[in-house]
Amino acid sequence: MLGLMQQLPLLTSSFIQYADRWHGEREIVSRLPDGALHRYTYSDAHRRAKRVANVLQQWGVVPGERVATLAWNTHRHFELYYGIGGCGAVTHTINPRYTPEQITYIVNHAEDTYLFFDSTFLPLVEAIAPHCPSVKGFVLMVGPEQMPQQTSLPNLHSYESLLDNISERFEWPSFDENRTASLCYTSGTTGNPKGVAYSHRSTSLHALVACMPNAMGLGRQDCVLPVVPLFHINAWELPYSCAMAGAKLVLPGPNLDGESLYQLMESEGVTVTAGVPTIWNGLLNYVEANGLSFSTLKKVGTGGSACPKATTRVLHEKHGLQVMHGWGMTETSSLVTLNTATAKEQGIGMEDYCDLMAMQGPPVWGSDIKVVDEQGGEMPRDGKSAGELMVKGHWICSEYYQKGERALNEDGWFATGDVAVITPEGNLHLTDRLKDMIKSGGEWISSVELEDIAMAHPKVEQAAVIGVAHPKWDERPLLIVKTKAGEDVSKQALLNSFEGNIAKWSMPDDVIFLQELPLGATGKIHKLTLREQFKNHYCRD
Ligand code: ADP
Repeated sequence: MLGLMQQLPLLTSSFIQYADRWHGEREIVSRLPDGALHRYTYSDAHRRAKRVANVLQQWGVVPGERVATLAWNTHRHFELYYGIGGCGAVTHTINPRYTPEQITYIVNHAEDTYLFFDSTFLPLVEAIAPHCPSVKGFVLMVGPEQMPQQTSLPNLHSYESLLDNISERFEWPSFDENRTASLCYTSGTTGNPKGVAYSHRSTSLHALVACMPNAMGLGRQDCVLPVVPLFHINAWELPYSCAMAGAKLVLPGPNLDGESLYQLMESEGVTVTAGVPTIWNGLLNYVEANGLSFSTLKKVGTGGSACPKATTRVLHEKHGLQVMHGWGMTETSSLVTLNTATAKEQGIGMEDYCDLMAMQGPPVWGSDIKVVDEQGGEMPRDGKSAGELMVKGHWICSEYYQKGERALNEDGWFATGDVAVITPEGNLHLTDRLKDMIKSGGEWISSVELEDIAMAHPKVEQAAVIGVAHPKWDERPLLIVKTKAGEDVSKQALLNSFEGNIAKWSMPDDVIFLQELPLGATGKIHKLTLREQFKNHYCRD
């Protein structure tokens, strides 16, 4: 017997329609690339998203066609999410931190037909345009008065002029919920970036689960500042979840330094924020250096790379914030597991809490995880047996866009390339990425564990540990550090902080100090660059 319920496809347009109808006056505040603050409501955003859809329709954009964005977290980018995806086209968010060659590859691979971009990226777009024949038109996301006097770009429009000159009447079409809503390319540390195509259905389920209390717990009372970029994995679904929850949204634009974020959080009353750990270190450094505190912030989502225990401690102990430590990747639409434990609820001290929060938590509903040995056999959940992490679920990639190859094994699990254990309590604990593990004299060393110890040193701002070829041991760990501004620490003092914390043979053999550590396209330390730069460090003769 079939259920006798209404059949409505799960489409992203339903989120903005809902937000307009029931939370229409809730604000969306965004900081523009020129620093100005822009303020409007969900209802305004909905009207403008409809104008975007009308523009695309006027241009003859058909369902499934890829329309690209190269933009920061601003209200215009938010409108494009809904305007492009809502009319059946595909919102292809491009990460501007890729090299121009990678961006050209991505645009050509996706066969984007239109490209919307922020003014910051004008030189980049001018440089790649001649090599992107599929792009028929370019839209600079500014008003007519800010358009450049001269440009090599053919068919360049002003976003605001386009919207001003078109109707805001548009009926969102209904279509198969399995059609693609958005497309995002992974950075592909080997080979070319690969496209992951998120469906309306996967996005809807994922955004809904992200609102649950044991996920990010979002509601109308919240004011959410996604530091995670809208150009990478749909900003962990927050532009969708916030509309579903009716939460106020604060979009920070390009300035993600500690001072800019802190001021925005305080002036707008932000309660929830989310981003990668390097962002939290920058924010905390600013807050600590100026003796400040957070007056409205309650929860900090962190993910994308391991969150150092020292960071968790300051956030929770000093500032009373709830840390939400999650794991996910481009292929999993972001969030798969999330650790939302607090020291109070667990009845544990700060030391134990920091240990617990180094784990990425249990999976949320809709996805499942296991760790397997080299033969693919499931390993026990004993907190000790490390193996490759496999995932399965409603928002996990099944194949890459236009690659014609299945991304799943025969049993329908996706192999993540991450190494992890699962504890008896069901917490995922990532040990490392397979490619970042260091093999020394036949034993594996976790770079994450060593980085965590280095980051606990009060004078260290950033730390990375890489495996470097060694004539005797195959590979040995090398510690690379950026110290906090104005701080100085000796090699020996740093190495001493490892004593007693780990086995002697897994201690780094040397320390390098750098002014800046190279960051990759997703804001994480780019170990590939460091490995290349220091590949001969232990074999110089
Ligand atoms: P990129 O590969 O460019 O970094 P992704 O965002 O897809 O882009 O990266 C996903 C990877 O980031 C995961 O496979 C994992 O190695 C790492 N990662 C994600 N979350 C965490 C976390 N909480 N702790 C440690 N590593 C993480």
